[in-house]
Amino acid sequence: MRKKLVAGNWKMHGSLAENAALLTALKPALAGIEAVVCVPFPYLAQAQVELAGSSIAWGAQNLSEQAKGAFTGEVSASMLLDFGCTYVIVGHSERRSLYGESDALVASKYMAAQAAGLTPILCVGESLAERESGVTQAVVARQLDAVIDAAGVGSLAQAVIAYEPVWAIGTGKTASPEQAQAVHAFIRSKIAALDAGVADQLVIQYGGSVKAANAAELMVQPDIDGGLIGGASLVADEFIAICRAAAK
Ligand code: PEP
Repeated sequence: MRKKLVAGNWKMHGSLAENAALLTALKPALAGIEAVVCVPFPYLAQAQVELAGSSIAWGAQNLSEQAKGAFTGEVSASMLLDFGCTYVIVGHSERRSLYGESDALVASKYMAAQAAGLTPILCVGESLAERESGVTQAVVARQLDAVIDAAGVGSLAQAVIAYEPVWAIGTGKTASPEQAQAVHAFIRSKIAALDAGVADQLVIQYGGSVKAANAAELMVQPDIDGGLIGGASLVADEFIAICRAAAK
């Protein structure tokens, strides 16, 4: 049986005081449940101190594809390791659409993360226009192929995929369990055609307006192995309920 894993994406939210309150609430409530919080870079040190010894892992929301050098404003994989990160989100739709990250750049970031021993959470997903024009599978396949061509299908044994339909992120519009399951099954079968063992173990998270109220019906789908949670990951009771729904 595959593990289920819920990751929180705090995006550019938080403060030292808010984070302390949130992490203090999460730690006892999620004891024994594997979960991840992906925090803004400046709060990695806080996450490291607060979460040490807990069952909650922490990570970042982005990294540089470069190892080191004259890249002002960038943060490398080895810097994330210095703060105890084990996960990093790559290719979030906000990075792709607002910061122009191409499939090739996302693949480079994915490889930089893995080369350092971090587990990339690779985000894929279609826009509303793409869904409406019937190219959801083609878009997701293209985003996956960029990584598989660069890093090999075997690399997915040390990765998590997050299917996040862009039209569902932060909009309050969740994909129906059937819509999400259909794309998850497509992703798994596409990978199974290359390596059945990797596909069978691969954690594929769903992301897009997941809340306590809709988590159970999503998490029970056979190919949904957890979630990548934005807004609701900032509300302790919501995130705890989602993690518990996934862990059932
Ligand atoms: C996200 O940021 O990855 C996300 C899914 O956001 P939300 O849960 O707020 O839709």
